[in-house]
Amino acid sequence: MTEATEISRLKLIAKRHARATRVALREALNLIAVHLGFANWTQLVSANKSGWVPSPEQVASIEAMVANHVSPADFTTVGADASACRWEYLKQAEQGQIRGHAYRLQVALDDVIIAGEGWSITVPEDPSARATVRTSAEVDDQSPVFDPDFLEEALSLANHRMAQVRGKISTDWPRRSTKPDGKGRSRHPLWDRDSDIWFCLHCNGKITGIQIAQNLWHCPACGASPVDIFDSAFWCEDEGKSLPPIGAKAKSHTGKPEFQVVDDRPKLELNERNIVLLMRSALLDDATNVSERLGALLAEITVDEDNDVWISLEEDLWPDDKEPTQAIKVAAQLGIEIELETMWSKIPFHWPALGEQTSSTTKYLQMLLEAYAQYAAPSDSEG
Ligand SMILES: [Zn+2]
Repeated sequence: MTEATEISRLKLIAKRHARATRVALREALNLIAVHLGFANWTQLVSANKSGWVPSPEQVASIEAMVANHVSPADFTTVGADASACRWEYLKQAEQGQIRGHAYRLQVALDDVIIAGEGWSITVPEDPSARATVRTSAEVDDQSPVFDPDFLEEALSLANHRMAQVRGKISTDWPRRSTKPDGKGRSRHPLWDRDSDIWFCLHCNGKITGIQIAQNLWHCPACGASPVDIFDSAFWCEDEGKSLPPIGAKAKSHTGKPEFQVVDDRPKLELNERNIVLLMRSALLDDATNVSERLGALLAEITVDEDNDVWISLEEDLWPDDKEPTQAIKVAAQLGIEIELETMWSKIPFHWPALGEQTSSTTKYLQMLLEAYAQYAAPSDSEG
C-alpha cells in the first residue's frame, strides 16, 4: 500500500464514523489522529508527508474503534488504552455478571434489553423515551435493580449498546438525515424529502429539522416512528400552517428509568377460547369412532358470561343417548355448568353411519370413496 492509499483509507473510516456518531468530519479525523498518537489530524498528515504510514494493525484497531461507535468525548477523556479495553468489554458483553448477578444483553427491534433473574431493563431506540425497568412480582424488592450501583452499571452497559445501535442506524441513513444543513433542513431517512419543518401524523406536532434529526426521526413529543413524520401535514386543511410548534411540548425526562412491576407468573386463563378448547378436547376423548370424532370437532360450544358452557352435538354424528362423560368431568374440574343439546345441521359427508364402523380415518375415507364411486357419472372409457 502506498502512503496515499493508507491515508484515504483512514479518511473513509473517519467519514463513516462521522456519519454514525453525528459529528463533524473534522472531529472524526482528529479522533483517529489521537488514537494513533498525534495531537490532531493536521499533525498526522504532515507526519505522513515525511514518510510515516499507519501499520496494518493500527488501521485494524481504528476500524474496531469505529465499529463500536465510541463518541470522541469518551475517547479523549479516557485515553486510547482504556477505550481499547472497553471495546473488548462491549464485544463480550452479550452475557456476563454485574456485582455477582448474571445478565443477558440483546438488541430486539432496535431496542436494547438487558435482563436477569426476575428483572429487565429496556432502553428504547427513540432517544426521547425513558428506559424502563421491569421486575417480576415474585422477586419483589429482592431484585438487584433496586441497588443504585447495580442499576447504574446495568444502565450504562445498555446505553453503550444503544449508542452502537443508533450509530448503525445513522450510518444506514443519508448523512443529511442526522446532520441538518446550515438552514436547518434535514432529509427524511425513508423518503427523499428535505425540509426545515416536519409534522407528526400521530400528535400533530410541528417539529424543526434540527429537532427531528437529533431525535433520530422519532417525534420528540409522542415518540411516533419515522413513518409517521411528513414534510407537510396533508391531513390538515392548511397543511399544518396553523399548527403550533412542538417547542416545550417535547418530552423532557430526567434520564431516570421508569419502574414497573410485572406479574408474569404463569396463570391458567379461563377465557372463552381456552374453555372451548378444553371442552372440545374432552369431547374427542369421548369419541370412540370417526363419526363421533367429527361430531366432537363440529360441536357448537358456547360459553356464557359466567363461563358456563352450552354444547350442541350434531344428531347424525353423536348418538342421542351417549353422555360425553369426559366433557362433563372437565366441566366439573373447571367448576362450571354444562348443558347439552342436539342440533341438526348440514353434515360434511354423506352416510354418517359409515363413520361408526371404524376409528381409523384412512379406513373411513376408503369406505367413503367407494360409496361415492357407486354414484360416479359413467366414465369416458365406456364411451
Ligand atoms: Zn408526535
